[in-house]
Amino acid sequence: MVKSFLHGPIPVKTRRAKENAASLVAFLTKSAVDLSHTDPAMAREQAALARKVKLRFNVRLDPSLTRFTCHGCKGLLVPGVSARVRLGHGKQAILRVTCTNCGHVNRRIINEA
Ligand SMILES: [Zn+2]
Repeated sequence: MVKSFLHGPIPVKTRRAKENAASLVAFLTKSAVDLSHTDPAMAREQAALARKVKLRFNVRLDPSLTRFTCHGCKGLLVPGVSARVRLGHGKQAILRVTCTNCGHVNRRIINEA
């Protein structure tokens, strides 16, 4: 049902279509994160599909879900499954999330104050 419109003609990018696409992307990402512990292959497929929909409809992923995407390989990033999380102590506390698929280090400053 999802795949059919991805391989057909490019749908009209109305506001409603974009809203539907955004909710579908959020759903697919959440589902992929949940599945990553039990069915990694399915989770990877769902994450790839979410990215495909995201790019076709030009929608952004919800900010709460962006941390589950690797900026290096654009794959799924789940701590304990496909990512290693380390806390860096310096002037600023930095969270380093290393992707185990490609080795890219996704950094995030924790306290900006
Ligand atoms: Zn990666």
